[in-house]
Amino acid sequence: MLGYFPVPYQDELLYSLVARYAQHTGLVGNQKSIVREVFSSSTAVAVPDLPSHLSSLVNNLQLAWPTSVEELIKSFTLAPVYLPFLSQQQASKTISSMRSDSGGDIHTRSGIAASVIKQQEYFRYCPQCLKEHQMEFGECYWRRIHQLPALGFCSNHSCLLEYSSISFHPREKHLFVAANEIKLDSSIRHIELKDIEGALHDRYEQLLQASQFKGLGYNRWTLFYRNLAVELGLVKNSRVCHQEIHRLLKRTWAGTTFEDQFNYSENNYWLTNLFRKHRKSFHPLRHLLVTTALVSELSVTKLLEKVRRLPEGVLVPSHFSKKVTVQNAAEYRYSWVDMLKRHPSAGVKELRSTERGDAIYAWLYRNDKSWLMSNRPKRKVNSQSHYAVNYRDWDAKNVAHLESVYEVMANVRNRPRLTRTRIIKELPRSNSVEKHLPDLPATSQWLTDHEESVEDFQLHRLRIAYEQMKSNDLEVKRWRLLRTAAIRIELVTPKIEAEIRRLEQS
Ligand SMILES: [Zn+2]
Repeated sequence: MLGYFPVPYQDELLYSLVARYAQHTGLVGNQKSIVREVFSSSTAVAVPDLPSHLSSLVNNLQLAWPTSVEELIKSFTLAPVYLPFLSQQQASKTISSMRSDSGGDIHTRSGIAASVIKQQEYFRYCPQCLKEHQMEFGECYWRRIHQLPALGFCSNHSCLLEYSSISFHPREKHLFVAANEIKLDSSIRHIELKDIEGALHDRYEQLLQASQFKGLGYNRWTLFYRNLAVELGLVKNSRVCHQEIHRLLKRTWAGTTFEDQFNYSENNYWLTNLFRKHRKSFHPLRHLLVTTALVSELSVTKLLEKVRRLPEGVLVPSHFSKKVTVQNAAEYRYSWVDMLKRHPSAGVKELRSTERGDAIYAWLYRNDKSWLMSNRPKRKVNSQSHYAVNYRDWDAKNVAHLESVYEVMANVRNRPRLTRTRIIKELPRSNSVEKHLPDLPATSQWLTDHEESVEDFQLHRLRIAYEQMKSNDLEVKRWRLLRTAAIRIELVTPKIEAEIRRLEQS
């Protein structure tokens, strides 16, 4: 039984928690003891993405941190990213391997080892995130979002992730290395992220937080993509237009870090296979690349919900209904008109380059051409003057939007610190807002008034900790407040000290 275990930071890998445990208890370097103490086993292997021995760990944690295997899997491993896309059998095998003391072949069992998209070889980090952690917590840790296959950037800081020297598939099988123990001092390399890359990042993050533990299975996913092709008018004479889907996606992702995923090959091209009957599971990234581009309005939760409602084992119909419903046409017309309104000065070419623009255009062109031709955008006006006029309006809209979401945003439990960048992400077209801040004085001022300092954030965490203690009938004690709020003693400022005293007495 462990008498102590570190309090997890937001989005921390379990691997990182074990490594910090070793540091805090002075066990670094004594691999065998760490594994024996934490997992009650000398065979537990340091697997960062899909760790096993979780039942034993939960047992050992009862005193220090009452938790469950499900919570560990959901919040501190990479399993949530894979599970929904597996067959039901693969998903339950994966979970039982993680629970058990024999997780050796877990990657093979789940079919994850077979994917072309590989887990990166070394732990990755964002230099700026790391700096902030160091400042806020006095130590740093390995975040899940930085270890996702093929996601090579931090969207909070618009920069590339850097590789550490710590292997993600350690040669020394029992070695846990904390982010603090090694030199992580690469300088930040900024990149210009397109909106759609930001959207994909957010979906990957939503997937990490989704708790869909059941594999949805091949049949449901097959049906989902077939229906999608029909809805988007990408089916002609009962056949899926694979070439068109390829062109559409290639164009959407051109110039992004994911461009390479769309190298067409006649045989065995994943995108073609995705729109055929599924015979194996597809990597989460591939699902995200397609759904982010084609159904941007569906959040990951809604997407999984939609797929879950499809039949699990019914035979797939061999042809599609050719009927274009009136309902469909109405929706596409509506989306097109809406796009014209939102981009009053854009021409057809520009409209087609927006997130869903090309799909909408393609559908209308094929199914509703005469209407489309009479609803083309007016001739392009001078875009310079358009932007000049619009700044003030944009500025005001931003402030109104922020006012309307702030209350909810600030009151989310376990939320991250509300930095300027984090708040901006709430806004539509957040990447552009960030770039044009000097032209948006009211937005800028609002951000200055509302962004949270490290100290503010610690005060917020203290209050959450206090509420937790009250609702669990625990006595409010200084040490307990500090521990639950994850504030290190050396970082306690006079203001925090005063707040602790106030909470202890109230
Ligand atoms: Zn970052």
